[in-house]
Amino acid sequence: MVSPTPVITVNRRGTARLRNGHLWVYRSDLPQNVDVPRGTLVQVRDERGRQLGSALYSDASQIAIRLLSREEITEEQLPSLLRQRIATAVKFRQQTSRDTDSYRVVFSEADLLPGLIVDKYNDVLSMQALTQAFDRRDLRQIVGETLAEEFPACSLVERADQHIRELEQLPGRASQLVRGERSSTIFTMNNVRFHFDALAGQKTGAFLDQRENYAAAARYAHGEALDCFSYQGGFALHLARVCEHVTGVDSSRPALEIAEQNEQLNRPSHRCGDIEWIEANAFDLLKDYASAGRQYDTIVLDPPAFAKTKRAVATALRGYKELNLRALKMLRPGGVLVTCSCSFHVSEAEFLEMLGAAAADADRRVRILEKRGQAKDHPILLNVPETAYLKCIIVSIMH
Ligand code: SAH
Repeated sequence: MVSPTPVITVNRRGTARLRNGHLWVYRSDLPQNVDVPRGTLVQVRDERGRQLGSALYSDASQIAIRLLSREEITEEQLPSLLRQRIATAVKFRQQTSRDTDSYRVVFSEADLLPGLIVDKYNDVLSMQALTQAFDRRDLRQIVGETLAEEFPACSLVERADQHIRELEQLPGRASQLVRGERSSTIFTMNNVRFHFDALAGQKTGAFLDQRENYAAAARYAHGEALDCFSYQGGFALHLARVCEHVTGVDSSRPALEIAEQNEQLNRPSHRCGDIEWIEANAFDLLKDYASAGRQYDTIVLDPPAFAKTKRAVATALRGYKELNLRALKMLRPGGVLVTCSCSFHVSEAEFLEMLGAAAADADRRVRILEKRGQAKDHPILLNVPETAYLKCIIVSIMH
């Protein structure tokens, strides 16, 4: 006999959130005594018993409910819904990401598959479950089978992020190859080649969400370039095609070692000769270079997320301002700054305000060339603001 799908009642605030198009309900908007197995499908109702849809439940996360469908569906219908959603996600990328062999195939909430991430790096797919539900063996199997049908030539690696697993109270697990033979490959973005190894100690890959911004940066970049927070060379390798000299800075030696390997792959098409890789704290390096009077024509700032929580925003903005101020001071007239923030909690408006304040302090007149965000394979779901996180502002220094 099939057991009935559990029902969870959400309070008025939770109901309003869902009615406004968000997919999440926080634990504080649920009754205190919810007794539902972790990772199961639940029917969501308001306090008057009206149906709000079906959701996936987590007993660990503050995000207790992630809505999957506005219809009420059963566990038996779940596999076909997931297959359909994955197929739709794949089709969307066929329209938006044609010029690359690497893109995000499934972006969680933005593909109405909350808790599931799938990235494609050429012929290797990397799948990651962010929630108890998508960590279920049966759901992982359905996802795996569907991906095999959609991408028959690709291997599949299940990535386990220990931090996320702890938040969801999931048992520790190692990343593993679950289909095919390859867990490493070489992939191409904008004709630039990168190593990818899903199982190596130091995870390789690039920030797929920056793919279109790499290309945009290369359209404006010129002269002497400095790429701060270079990681495995994402921006630096693109700048190397058009700039006379490129320096990539990162505090992580393993990241720079892979950046160098990536450089080898692309050397023939570099205009700048060797890229100079520097292992350093970018804050210190910018400070030293600025006081030494160094100048550049192009600077990229792509730091890690400074504001991981709302409370950290003020401190984060101070960090961004310090970096941007130094960079703006070091740019020659006509120079270009590509400045990014991947902190969801820092809005584009706040980021622009910070940049304006930095320009004023640096005594520079600055013109915005482009206001950009994440690549199209990381779509933004309106009414789920958390799906929009990346800012990439390109400005030029006026003469
Ligand atoms: N621009 C990169 C991604 C940057 S990710 C790309 O497009 O691929 C952020 C990087 O910042 C990481 O590689 C991390 O090692 C580095 N990092 C963090 N703090 C740093 C610091 N204080 N100075 C220099 N690098 C730092």
